[in-house]
Amino acid sequence: MLCSIRANSNEKVFALTSDKSHGPFLCPKCRQEVVIRKGKIKIHHFAHKPPAMCSHGKGETEAHRNCKMSIYSALKTKPNVQALELEKDFGPVVADVYCLIDNVPVAIEVQRSNLSVNNITQRSEEYSKLGIYVLWIGLHDSTVKKQIDNKQCSPKAWEKWCHAAYFGRVYYWYQEDLLLPVHFAAHKLYVKESEWYDPDGNHQSAGGYERFSKRYKTPVATSLLSIANSFKAIPKSAWQQGTVSIPNCRLYVDRLRKWW
Ligand SMILES: [Zn+2]
Repeated sequence: MLCSIRANSNEKVFALTSDKSHGPFLCPKCRQEVVIRKGKIKIHHFAHKPPAMCSHGKGETEAHRNCKMSIYSALKTKPNVQALELEKDFGPVVADVYCLIDNVPVAIEVQRSNLSVNNITQRSEEYSKLGIYVLWIGLHDSTVKKQIDNKQCSPKAWEKWCHAAYFGRVYYWYQEDLLLPVHFAAHKLYVKESEWYDPDGNHQSAGGYERFSKRYKTPVATSLLSIANSFKAIPKSAWQQGTVSIPNCRLYVDRLRKWW
């Protein structure tokens, strides 16, 4: 977690601008004491003292914290962004970054490793009840880069969910408020041609054609999009296909036409 409550003043403070001497600090969720971690390289943050039962800040990696902080800092400079807050607590959900973009309430949620599709579904429903449009994003890490370069990927459950919810795109955070939209196109596999003679001496052949892979997709990326300037609010009705189930929700979706 990048923010905590300063016990002495009861105000929300940033790890970046806090010092050990300002402590004690409390977790905004469970009100247990948290410790400040200020490394030379790592993003400054707060952490529960173990053992902690509270899930606030759990499963966050350095990359995740860096992403949140960078989005927050970038949005701070945009004239059409108001009410910007990092780790905004709405009770049932804490938004990684929350703000009004051209007066539309938006929650930006960065995917973290321990978040299941059930969690994503529930959180999206909660935001919808609050009248907030949610933007789920993944991290543009070495795995994603490699998949785009190799033109082959096997989407994870959360990626399938986002792809279905966001009309055929998944957003990966690139830098500042810039996201890389990626579409998962059908992936063709070539079935090699082979010939042989059966025991009766008849000529047989097979293969020599392409088929669609059930497991793999071809990721197709397009140009970077700015969170502050390239998206619009869309209410989405509940929808189901195969194993993917999308609830009634409010989504923040890009304005691009299909690029694939
Ligand atoms: Zn806590």
